[in-house]
This record gives sequence, structure tokens and C-alpha cells, in this order.
Amino acid sequence: MISRERPNARRRRTWVAGAALVTLASCGPAGPPPRPQATMQTSAPPRPQTSAPTATAYRFARVIVAPGEVIEGGVIVVDGATIRGVLAADAPLPGDAAIVELGRYTAIPGLIDAHTHLTFCWDPRWDGGKMPDEPLPPAEAMPFAEANARRTLEAGITTVRDLGALHQLDLALAARIDAGEVVGPRILGAGEGIWPPGLVPGEAEDGPSGAVRGPEEVAAAARDRLADGARVIKLWASTGTDDDLSGQPLYSYEEIKAAVDVAHAHGVKVAVHDYLGEVADDIIRAGADTIEHARELSDASLAAMRERGVAYVPTIWHNVYYRDNIERLGLDPAAAAGFDAFIDANVATARRAKAAGVTIVMGSDAVFTGFGDNTRELDVFVERVGMTPMEALATATTDAARALGIDDRLGAIRPGYEADFVVIDGDLASIEDIHRVVSVVKRGAVIDVAAPAGGSGMLNPLVSP
Ligand SMILES: [Zn+2]
Repeated sequence: MISRERPNARRRRTWVAGAALVTLASCGPAGPPPRPQATMQTSAPPRPQTSAPTATAYRFARVIVAPGEVIEGGVIVVDGATIRGVLAADAPLPGDAAIVELGRYTAIPGLIDAHTHLTFCWDPRWDGGKMPDEPLPPAEAMPFAEANARRTLEAGITTVRDLGALHQLDLALAARIDAGEVVGPRILGAGEGIWPPGLVPGEAEDGPSGAVRGPEEVAAAARDRLADGARVIKLWASTGTDDDLSGQPLYSYEEIKAAVDVAHAHGVKVAVHDYLGEVADDIIRAGADTIEHARELSDASLAAMRERGVAYVPTIWHNVYYRDNIERLGLDPAAAAGFDAFIDANVATARRAKAAGVTIVMGSDAVFTGFGDNTRELDVFVERVGMTPMEALATATTDAARALGIDDRLGAIRPGYEADFVVIDGDLASIEDIHRVVSVVKRGAVIDVAAPAGGSGMLNPLVSP
């Protein structure tokens, strides 16, 4: 995605403010939009952390501590927002812990989605279902972004890296979630991101703050993003968005390197958009941390990625989403064949990346109505890229955490880590089990899953009625 990610950028179509706003008003004032299939329930309040017992011990059929590390009958002991320990089935339970028996379920680490756009909102009921020509103003977009965040969390994703947001709304949303005002995943946000001017007609008049050219301007923009609270730097090094499947280079090696140098000096990672892979060698040489999308990557690029530890975030499912929603999203119907060809090439590249030993990370690139389906990318990894369910799980846990630089506290269920885990109904022998989410625990707080992503309809066993 490029165009809707860039605030103030003029869209190809003209904004019909009146129609959209009237329709929005008829849906009610700025509350969160209704959930598509289920009644909204309020979240359970965080567990009190001062009253006895001081800890909670959750006993499972099995605990997948990390992909490939399974403890049958394992127990997760949570103390406040932190994991105190993970116990074997026959280990004595701590005397100060309340016991929660979850003997038919499996615990997996809280999942990480390395590529979202939580603030991209659209309600199919607007204006006869048409996509508005311009994004909503920030105050109107926020309730939708909150709902997107909640759906994402309910799919088992406790951390997202948000790579491009209107008016840096992801940073505002992240702050609200961290303050406990909104229920959602923790967000490593990029804010508006960085892109060169001239991509969209009228952009110069609009003067988006992210549109910069030349190493000095790019470096300054990166510093601005960090000052605004960005926890990742996002750079668009090629064209390509929704039904524009091109991938023309937009930035030089020097420009990419300028962003990387600023970010790394602040201990922040860099994600670079490259739709085709034509800029990949510059991205790798500049020392960026992840390459997003890249339909094609040469064998030489893949070898260099493995050697330098650059992760590949293929975002295959997002083009499935666009193809399946072409008319609803107002895209060109003729683009369907293009989407299919792009998806096939993307899959082939991911297969070669896997064979080459490149770290592959799950990024849904979810937008609009895609939230809650974020982990459909894992289905693609298993069904088309040839991963085992455990390998797919790694792309959204341990490998994702390492790529994002948070593997010292997230991506696995280990003592001292943040208490993030997902309760699923199944043993993950099939990747379908990952959609059978019955409970989510984030930083020790139990999230009431109102609508399990897999539609299992079970009651949340961790939330008392
Ligand atoms: Zn994107």
C-alpha cells in the first residue's frame, strides 16, 4: 500500500465529503463501528495485582513455549504483566498462585503481525458500499482504528508493527492502548513513513510532511518520525499499491542508507517497501532490517539477505484480500489477473527464500475490513509456501520478534518475558487451529474474545461470566 498510507496525498478520485459524512452520521456519531458477526463485549479488566493470590497458574493440555518447544501438560505462571515461569506437568505449583485449569487447550506465544495499517478504515455500509475517495479525518478514523486494533488482538496478535498511518494516527492509537484506554495489541508504529515527492498528482500542493528527496532530507524526516514517537522507520523505495502492481525504484542507495543510519543510531529498525525486488540489493547493502512485499528477489539478493540477517515480509495474503474484494474496494476489475500473477510470483519467491534460509516474517498488510483475518498469511505459508505449522508459527513469534528487535521479551513464553499468550482449541497439527482462538492474554490481562476468528463460538474460559 502506498497511496492510502500517505496523509494529505491527493487520491486518484475526488472526495465526495457530503455523501460519506451524511452516511456516516446516519450510522451514529463517532462510536466504534459494529462488529461484523458478533455482539460487542467489553474487555475484562486487568487482574488485580495487589490482592492475594499474587500470581495465576494456567494449566494447559500443552504449552508451545516457542516453535518446536512443546511442554505437554505445561503450566504458565503469570505474575502481573510478566511470565514468572513455565512448569512441567509434574512440577509443584507455586503456593501463592490461583490455578486455572485449561486442560483441553493449547497455549502459543502472543503473535506478532509485522505489517499492518490499523488506521485504514472503511465501512462497507458507507455510501452504498463504495470506498470513499479520501480517507476520513483523524478524529473520525480513530474509532475505526480502535475497532481494527481490537479485532487484531482477538485474532491472537498481541503485537503489531504498523507501517504507515494517516496523520501518524498509529502513534496516537499506540499511546491510548499503552495507557489502557483502548483494548488492542502493542503497536510499534512508523507514523506516516517516508516517501519521495511526486508520486501522486497534486501532492506538492498538499505538501505532505513525509515526502522528501535526497539523503539529507530523508535523514531529517527519519529524525522527525523518531521525535514523534515512531518505533520503526518505514521507507517506500518503490512504487506499488493496491491495484498498482508496479515496483519502480523511488530511492537511491544513499537515500535508503541515510534513513537506516539515523534509525540504527537510535536503536530502531527499518522496514523498506519494495514491490518487485528491484531495489533489494540497495536495501540490503544499506543495512535495512526487513524487505516488505518484494514479488521477485534474485538468488543473489536472497543469499545476501541470509548473510546479513535481513528478513523478508512477503505479505502474500494482502493481494488475495484485494483480489477477493476488487469491486467493493473500487479497484479495476481488470486487475484480477494481475493480482493472481503477483500472488503466484510472491509465493514462488517465498519458497525460494525459505530454501535459501532467509528469515520469513508474517505481515498481513491488513487494511479496511481485513482485520481479524491477519493470520490468514500463515495459511498461505503452509498451503502454498510449504511450511509446517510450526515453521509458520515461527514467522509470527520467534523470527518476527528477532526481526523487530523485541526477542528479549516477546515472541516466546519464557520466564521474565511479557505475559503474552494465546489459548487455542487444537494442537496446531493443522494451521487451521491457529484460527480457533478462545482467549488472548496480553501483559497478563485477559482479553475477552467475543468473536473467535475461526468462528468456534466457544465461551472464553478465562473470563468468568
Ligand atoms: Zn503496507
